[in-house]
Amino acid sequence: MIDSKPSITITHVLEHLYCPRFTYFEYVLTIPERQERRWKVERGRQVHLERSKMNKSYLRSKLNVVERQFDVPLASQSIGVRGVADEVLTFADGTMGPFDYKFAKAPKTPFRNQRMQCVLYGMLIAEWFGCEVNRCYLCYTRDNYHVVEVPITERARRDAMNVVQEVVEVIQHGYLPPPTTRSRRCIDCCYRNICVQ
Ligand code: SF4
Repeated sequence: MIDSKPSITITHVLEHLYCPRFTYFEYVLTIPERQERRWKVERGRQVHLERSKMNKSYLRSKLNVVERQFDVPLASQSIGVRGVADEVLTFADGTMGPFDYKFAKAPKTPFRNQRMQCVLYGMLIAEWFGCEVNRCYLCYTRDNYHVVEVPITERARRDAMNVVQEVVEVIQHGYLPPPTTRSRRCIDCCYRNICVQ
């Protein structure tokens, strides 16, 4: 486990996965990512809207959901992250899991960042509620609310903790991490004018 680590949000982790240098510019040099605040407000509105369209009987009959909690704030000192889950589900077998909305078409298999986000929420839920969490769900609203189950394995938990550790190390030691390997991402990056490659 990490000692005296800064508390980071799950959004930090996702930004880091997009490009590790985001962590450096945003949290070491404290140059804000311009879109973040507007994006959060917009996403909150969208979640609210999409949730009202989600088929409740599908959740009950297909996923055996017995309870739904909305916009649940979660945090853990031992995991070192915090965030607000779109939904926390309780299943008939007594386990729980996150349900996350994606305003996109479903990919062939969920992207790594989407899986990791779900896994981190799952880990937070397990600790916060003291229950077993072994799966999470992604709901793709642009694909007729297609729901994909993502298993939360030991390996997935380790992978997520490694990325959290990477973020913490950049913030604590203030070093410039390598750029994203996908140079297309640099084209409309708000840091491109100051990012030396
Ligand atoms: S310009 Fe490219 S490498 Fe630099 S921060 Fe942006 S995405 Fe990352």
